[in-house]
Amino acid sequence: MATLENLIDGELIASQADTEPVFNPATAAELAQAPRTTAEEVDAAVGAARRAFAGWSNATPAARAQALLSLADAIEEHATELAHAEAANAGKPIAAVTADEIPVMADNLRFFAGAARCLEGRSGGEYMEGYTSFVRREAVGVIGQVTPWNYPLMMAIWKIGPALAAGNTVVLKPAETTPITTLRLAELAADILPRGVFNVVAGPGNPTGQALIAHPDVDMVALTGSVETGKHVARTAADSVKRVHLELGGKAPVLVFDDVDLDGALATIAGTGYYNAGQDCTAATRVLAHASVYDDVVSGLAGQAQGLVIGDTLAPDTTLGPVNSARQRERVEGFLARKPDHAEIVTGGGEPDLAGFYVEPTVVAGLQQGDEMISREIFGPVITVQPFGDEERAIEWANATPYGLASSVWTRDVGRALRVAKALRFGCVWINDHIPLVSEMPHGGFKQSGYGKDLSVYSLEDYTVVKHVMANLA
Ligand code: NAD
Repeated sequence: MATLENLIDGELIASQADTEPVFNPATAAELAQAPRTTAEEVDAAVGAARRAFAGWSNATPAARAQALLSLADAIEEHATELAHAEAANAGKPIAAVTADEIPVMADNLRFFAGAARCLEGRSGGEYMEGYTSFVRREAVGVIGQVTPWNYPLMMAIWKIGPALAAGNTVVLKPAETTPITTLRLAELAADILPRGVFNVVAGPGNPTGQALIAHPDVDMVALTGSVETGKHVARTAADSVKRVHLELGGKAPVLVFDDVDLDGALATIAGTGYYNAGQDCTAATRVLAHASVYDDVVSGLAGQAQGLVIGDTLAPDTTLGPVNSARQRERVEGFLARKPDHAEIVTGGGEPDLAGFYVEPTVVAGLQQGDEMISREIFGPVITVQPFGDEERAIEWANATPYGLASSVWTRDVGRALRVAKALRFGCVWINDHIPLVSEMPHGGFKQSGYGKDLSVYSLEDYTVVKHVMANLA
């Protein structure tokens, strides 16, 4: 089986570390061996990023933009190869990667290419007699980035896009189960970017990720991952006061009132709850339905779940793939096994008779506020439904979670939609939809879903430091 190589200082380099297998979650077949990159090798990658920093941060915004535009073109030129590799390593239906993810990644990079050229400092002027002041926004330095396995390539793009656009250099560690496409991205980027600007090291959280987030010459760490890992990253970064950017878990409430077109709403809610097998930090998996439509919501979602096409991720009509690993399947099944007596598995709950790490699309009804499945992130194809009596209670329950990433409200009443959108403590509120994202708008959490934004100019600014320059005019 081929052993993956790290991309350090513009070159593929074989690691001296032990390796571990990387699987296709849809078949449980081994795809490659990946190194458990050592702290010394991480140090080499950080050294390369440090050496590249002066050149890259001093390149004109136009030059950096051109490189990002070329990388977007390279992604499109290699779209078929990348989509197949991502489908295989992450267990995603090929149609979803091809139609949704690849075009979004190219657009994200093109957005950051444009944004690189119009980064703003606030006004300059004479704030003390005889002096002129102005503000510069400068790159932070070397950024250590750590990504998860649910959207391996897209999360890498969301991380490197703003960081590189702002003039930083990067060492990125993909999740241990899904390193293949990120390493391929780095290989494509090595033909476009100067040496050392973008480095990728494969390996687990420990030792590889740990060596990166604790490295004394890394100026900022950015993680997309779980809340637990986020807390650890922030604690570790505190030792050297690194900047920290955290996109953590979510538990998106979906508030369905009694005045909506239920068929249309439920098709979208199920589509976005089961998308990527529910392994999405914004997934529409925590439905709160008004009591008068609760039964219809439960049966409608069950019908949607039963209509999904489960199986071969390379078949164009497949809509539900496996979860990412045997470990993740165990985790999802653990929630179902611990279901309280008052709740009911309306559909699903088992394992389809397939070789990979599949879980049937599941609807759990009758859950109550405080139940584990309502309060913790399941990260699998499981939608929960609970009834509510009035708007105030729906908002209270929706907000009663440590997470604060995304949410949606479904109602035709404009006043109610805007009241609820204001009251929800989440970084994003969709009205009569769920999950659409655009490059121009920020994505990121409140509360324990983290801080710092992905996408938009806000993320570009997150990867900069503000400098005040004051000149004595005498
Ligand atoms: P995870 O926290 O287990 O792993 C995320 C990454 O952190 C992996 O690359 C892992 O190797 C690394 N890591 C683990 N320990 C580390 C350490 N000590 N030092 C450095 N790196 C370490 O999360 P996961 O299970 O891979 O991903 C799923 C989680 O990510 C979910 O909670 C999901 O909601 C979240 N997520 C959030 C967003 C968002 O934008 N907010 C997007 C996608 C996924």
